[in-house]
Amino acid sequence: MTEGTTGTTTGAAPEALEYRTEVKQLLDILAHSLYTDREIFLRELISNASDALNRLQFEMLTNHAVVDPDAELAVTLIPDPDAKTLTVRDTGSGMNRDELVTNLGTIAHSGAKAFLQNANAGQAALEEIIGQFGVGFYSVFMVADEVTVTSRSYRPEDQAWTWRSRGDSTYTLEPADQQTRGTTIVIRLKEDAGEFAQPWRIEQIVKKHSDYVSFPIYLATAKPADDESATPRVLNRRSALWRQSPSKVTREEVNEFYKQLTFDSADPLLHVHLVADAPVNVRALLFVPAKRERGRLRLHAEHGLRLYSRKILIQSANRDLLPDHYRFVDGVVDSDDLPLNVSREMVQSNPVMRQLRRALANRLNRELKTLAEEQPDRYRTFWEEFGVYLKEGVALDASSQEALVELLRFRTTKSDGQWCSLADYVARMKSDQGAIYYVLGEDLRSVARSPHLDYFHAHDLEVLLLVDPIDGFMVSMLREFQGKPLQNVDDAGLSLPETPAAAQSDADAAAPAEGFDAVIARAKQVLGERVLDVQPSKQLVTSPCRLVSPADSFDRDLQRLRRLTEEDYVTPKKILELNRRHPLMVNLASMVTARPDDPLIDATIEQLFDNALLLEGLHANPVDMVERIQTLMEAAVAGRATSG
Ligand code: ADP
Ligand code: MG
Repeated sequence: MTEGTTGTTTGAAPEALEYRTEVKQLLDILAHSLYTDREIFLRELISNASDALNRLQFEMLTNHAVVDPDAELAVTLIPDPDAKTLTVRDTGSGMNRDELVTNLGTIAHSGAKAFLQNANAGQAALEEIIGQFGVGFYSVFMVADEVTVTSRSYRPEDQAWTWRSRGDSTYTLEPADQQTRGTTIVIRLKEDAGEFAQPWRIEQIVKKHSDYVSFPIYLATAKPADDESATPRVLNRRSALWRQSPSKVTREEVNEFYKQLTFDSADPLLHVHLVADAPVNVRALLFVPAKRERGRLRLHAEHGLRLYSRKILIQSANRDLLPDHYRFVDGVVDSDDLPLNVSREMVQSNPVMRQLRRALANRLNRELKTLAEEQPDRYRTFWEEFGVYLKEGVALDASSQEALVELLRFRTTKSDGQWCSLADYVARMKSDQGAIYYVLGEDLRSVARSPHLDYFHAHDLEVLLLVDPIDGFMVSMLREFQGKPLQNVDDAGLSLPETPAAAQSDADAAAPAEGFDAVIARAKQVLGERVLDVQPSKQLVTSPCRLVSPADSFDRDLQRLRRLTEEDYVTPKKILELNRRHPLMVNLASMVTARPDDPLIDATIEQLFDNALLLEGLHANPVDMVERIQTLMEAAVAGRATSG
């Protein structure tokens, strides 16, 4: 202990310390929680004990100068119905005074942080979070009147201390005389929590939540040692499920294991059990959770896989074992090929890691492909939850692109709300169709109305509907599939198969060339700098106009993403195309010729431009249009009234 800190003499008055504000807030919520599954407090304490044992075990790989080097690595639970207490003891790393203050006086636990971020989300949401994520050590105050933590760190120079709190705003610290390594937590149970002093109940909870903890969890009794039942008994099965043969492991066991590993309350959507000896020794159990929500909250928290070497935990959240786009995957990986004395920092650069990474990613790719082929409904659920991660992979990770592209799913103008793969699309392509077409938009409803689709509807050509902000980015990186280029339909220079005469509307319905040229000139004048150009359209069929990007527009696919992510991004100007055959254009042409000063002409042009912006999802403030629309309506109604 350093000079100047609190006295070392036992018997001195305990020192009182104040919790940090966020802890008080958390404790207050927990003390008043009506959460029914209070039993999860034990899961949290056992998980902390197991973490501490893992830390000690890892330390001892390189350092034998620890307190009690021969003590068995274990957790012991001692329920005492007479005293209404429960004691949780471990021989793990322990904590010195400073560690007690930092670890139990502030919020270290990431689940608890997420919990507080959601603290105003309402009671129901909070209780769900308590259950699903746990709130760490403090959850003990759901059942405790008072908690006493006495701990002796593994470092010989440290001393034992006792931390005590009633879950109000303070805790106390005093020196203790515990000589053995580890942590002993004595819980004085609340009046209504007496069940947790019953041995049968403790056994039940351990089986349910902590069966797969890898250290033995003993149940001991508080009775005198001459009693037969006083011999401690191991409660948990302790099996490293991932090291067993996949054929010997049942689905139930796997699901239980998953829940105990992640504290998730739902079964996983998919699990992968990988056992191989070449090219690298690997035993792994990987899980895709049922919901991304979990994954999202976990992103604030630590994500990563538990990495073991010969059953010894090397890292609790390793992010190098899978490519980034698989960061929603949970699980454990164990390899006998990883040297045991490797430091945590050295793990990354170990060549075995690269082999593990390849083996795991390949296997996941393959399992997802099989899922898509054999259980399309389940794959659809997967895609709707996690598809965005795979798209990110296609966009950002060139080496994974080839494997991931088969896993992509799209909605198209012909898929009728169903998801289809690029292979499906290519199989349906017309014989003279040279490209895979896509349209970008805000959402399925507005993109379905896109004027860009006129030509494609008229020619029965399928178009991918891309409405996720990342989609544009993804296709711009993908560029082609099976040799077919991916082609944005808003391209002004798009070369399309010849329009058969039948698909064209009646030629004499078109505006006369002269009048139409005048409309174009007028539109250029009215819209000025707001457009790059105004041009006649070769493709529009039923829509009067559309906005297209110039052929050299390098970021056309990224504009939507950039608008969302870059605050001062200005969308580049576009070209307005007018449809010579549209009745509006025909009438406008005759108006421009006969009554060029009519104010309706400019108002109509302005409105056409606004409509096009709206359909592109580019309109800054649609409310501004109301006044003009009113003027146009007045004119239309007046026209009818006089002519009728
Ligand atoms: P988390 O386990 O997610 O870090 P907790 O609230 O459960 O959060 O625990 C807070 C911290 O207290 C732990 O990170 C650990 O440093 C320390 N701690 C809790 N219990 C023990 C224990 N039995 N032995 C050693 N350290 C412990
Ligand atoms: Mg914990």
